[in-house]
Amino acid sequence: MIDLRSDTVTKPTLKMRQAAFEAEVGDDVFEEDPTVQRLELKAAEMLGKESALFVTSGTQGNQIAALTHCQPGDEVLMEEEAHIFLYEGASMSALAGVQPRTIKGTNGAMDPEEVRSKIRPENVHFPDTSLICIENTHNKAGGAVVPLENMQAIYEIAREHGIPVHLDGARLFNASIASGISVRRFADQTDSVQFCLSKGLGAPAGSIIAGSTEFIRKARKWRKRLGGGLRQVGMIAAPGLIALEEMVERLEEDHSNARLLAEGIGNIPGLKVEKAVETNIVLVNVEECQRTAEQFLDQLRENGILAVPFGPYTIRFVTHFDVSEEEIQITVRRMAEMVNQFKKL
Ligand SMILES: *Cc1c(COP(=O)(O)O)cnc(C)c1O
Repeated sequence: MIDLRSDTVTKPTLKMRQAAFEAEVGDDVFEEDPTVQRLELKAAEMLGKESALFVTSGTQGNQIAALTHCQPGDEVLMEEEAHIFLYEGASMSALAGVQPRTIKGTNGAMDPEEVRSKIRPENVHFPDTSLICIENTHNKAGGAVVPLENMQAIYEIAREHGIPVHLDGARLFNASIASGISVRRFADQTDSVQFCLSKGLGAPAGSIIAGSTEFIRKARKWRKRLGGGLRQVGMIAAPGLIALEEMVERLEEDHSNARLLAEGIGNIPGLKVEKAVETNIVLVNVEECQRTAEQFLDQLRENGILAVPFGPYTIRFVTHFDVSEEEIQITVRRMAEMVNQFKKL
């Protein structure tokens, strides 16, 4: 099987497994795990934040951020197709007790003036706007890089109103490699950041959240309340350190494989690449093949290729460390043959 469902399917490298085996550990709830501390320190340095915290997943990181920044009854602004809104089980409402308010973006980027217009004025009828979330790269927008200038403009407005900004940077390193802009410069335009070690960076589990010392002090307490305080978790943090040391630059290979895949698919009559490929995600529309996304995916699976539905007629491919350039070429060839068969039926 050529598994292009997600970059989360990457398996830890031999070096990561060795690092896990050899990791120096301690009880991290007592803040005595030296490996976790090294990872948190390195992540904070890379992001240019005072402090960082290792959390179990991207979802947990985003939820801890909401719980830390907001009070129940507050309102949070986010892009209409944000992961936090679409794919986290409404956990901001369920856990933080906040109301999301969505803004339709362009390629994942919200118009700063629209953000400004949605901030609630003081009025007894209104909730307080207490957080603005940005997602970079934007998953539903096909891995689009939200431009730094857009983040700067939103951050300026947020600061005028004293509202914190949280970056759901699950794939922030992809944004950085694609744009040539450091993760630190993106993180500079936010109060808190979450990024995943377990996606393109290849670690088996875990995310980082980062922000001010005070933010992380409160976040640590929320992590404990959510049951996310782990003990000798240096065994999981050690592969995360390898991910940051060795797996960042190579993301460019995933991006070039995604371009190769999009080019190949673009040449297959009946298939349409929906968005220009900027990072490691390719969205393909299959409607002209007279098949729904689900039907198309069933047939793709029979041909040894896995992807996921991303709309009634849209499927998503994600390139990653465990898929080679050769496998991308095989994928294109098999898809061309498959679509060609459709026409004969
Ligand atoms: C994957 C992802 C998350 C959630 O990460 P998990 O580790 O799967 O919980 C959050 N935001 C975005 C944009 C993502 O792509």
